[in-house]
Amino acid sequence: METINQIRAQFSALQQQVYGKPLVYFDNAATSQKPLTVLELQQRMSSGINANIHRAVHKLSADATELYETGRDEVRKYLGADSREQIIFTSGATASLNLVASSFGHQFLKNGDKVILSEAEHHSNIVPWQIICERVGAQIMVLPVNIRGEISVDQFSEMLDEKVKIVAITHASNVLGVVNPIKEIVQIAHSKGVPVLVDGAQGIIHCDFSVKDLDCDFYVFSGHKIYAPTGIGILYGKKELLEKMPPYMGGGDMVDTVTFEKTTYAPLPLKFEAGTPNFIGAACLAPALQFASSVRQSAEIKLYEREMTAYMIKELENIEGLTIWGNPSNRELKIPVFSFTVEGTHPSDLAQLLDKMGVAVRSGLMCAEPLIRKFSAVGMVRASLAPYNTKEEIEIFIAGLKRAIKMLR
Ligand code: PLP
Repeated sequence: METINQIRAQFSALQQQVYGKPLVYFDNAATSQKPLTVLELQQRMSSGINANIHRAVHKLSADATELYETGRDEVRKYLGADSREQIIFTSGATASLNLVASSFGHQFLKNGDKVILSEAEHHSNIVPWQIICERVGAQIMVLPVNIRGEISVDQFSEMLDEKVKIVAITHASNVLGVVNPIKEIVQIAHSKGVPVLVDGAQGIIHCDFSVKDLDCDFYVFSGHKIYAPTGIGILYGKKELLEKMPPYMGGGDMVDTVTFEKTTYAPLPLKFEAGTPNFIGAACLAPALQFASSVRQSAEIKLYEREMTAYMIKELENIEGLTIWGNPSNRELKIPVFSFTVEGTHPSDLAQLLDKMGVAVRSGLMCAEPLIRKFSAVGMVRASLAPYNTKEEIEIFIAGLKRAIKMLR
């Protein structure tokens, strides 16, 4: 497909060979490759526009600040948020989740309160809540997923009582690749006055949405999974909540005035951006999200992604003894993230053999140990696709997988 070839040409990392074989990069849910526009801006800033932001009057600092704030504008647009004050730069989804758990928890959680998480959460959306719940004496309630990897909205409704103070749920699971009914969850939670945080680490890549339409109270994601560099992430939040929440970290740039007696804080978003941020990473979100937008707006690429997903499922289902985890009844809700186990083989052996064939996949617990254990697995293999992956690569992967299974049985 011509469009896909044009896209591939923008990703130099995809042109390389590993062990003398063309790289088949199927670990996109862990981190994506970066297009040339991102690499060029990263290089241009590192080598030329390298000055601390918001602080100095000189030209270089003004230029770096402008690029940093352009990154914020681009994120606001991509998320469909109302204002730039709602867009906070962090170091990644994990940092954003810790920020909310700690700051929201400090302000709004007390002994006996409850936090609802789904069973399909990444450790980054479990552990920060455990830390704050332990500190204040609150309790975590777990919304289960069924064998297909779906949550039940009715079950969720039943769990909501007056003790629940927040719901934190993934937009799409990094293991199951199943998109959750976030809009319904938000509507139900809001009918009881409970805010909802959405972990968008995977959803940001594959779901077409706006935070205004979802009406969620917080949305978090990492830049590196959506074509930007590592070390930059986003917390979107509703202003009325962010304004009530105390700062998470103290330091430069987040203050209004400082005396030894009392400090007053800068307005949003700077209140939550203490210290020198990853200004190059933030600036690079602009070209990264411009690329992601062009993909998101292309009907041709959307159709291509659906066809690739269907093809992958068909090929995997044909392998004897293989179980795919995450099979929503509505196939539209499956993103191209395929975790599976194969009878008589260990996931890490399969991943190692595939690696030697030039195919990069993830294996293990995938930072979602409770979910993997629920399905009585020691781990899983995960192949995750991006729009730059091709049908030919799926064929190489499937042939390699069949060979690896034969070698191990
Ligand atoms: N949440 C989900 C669903 C993820 O897939 C990931 C990363 O794999 C994270 C959170 C954490 O992201 P990061 O490690 O970039 O902070």
